[in-house]
Amino acid sequence: MGLTSAQEDEARRIATELAELAASGKVLPGSIAERRTHCGRAGCRCMANPPQPHGPYFQWTRKVASKTVGRWLSAEQAADYRVFIENDRRMHELLARLEAIGADLLEADPRTRRRV
Ligand SMILES: [Zn+2]
Repeated sequence: MGLTSAQEDEARRIATELAELAASGKVLPGSIAERRTHCGRAGCRCMANPPQPHGPYFQWTRKVASKTVGRWLSAEQAADYRVFIENDRRMHELLARLEAIGADLLEADPRTRRRV
């Protein structure tokens, strides 16, 4: 169950980066999407040829109790909060790598039953 020195090094690097991200407090789940819409009114530029849709509008969406919840943002907010989303994704990647180390340890454990 002991970690190899390479695994220890990786775990330490992950811990350092996770701590930095957590300390920034700039973490948001979900995603920020740019939306352009067509109102459908006859004569509106969004119905012209070629169409010129309305927007862009920015929307932060996330899952709350398995439902998608959205919040409209200004362009300035979208620019400011995009890094929060990236930080959240990075934290998930780092956690997945940490979990992979745990899975490797379990697989390498001589007490683990081989698949039959
Ligand atoms: Zn329109």
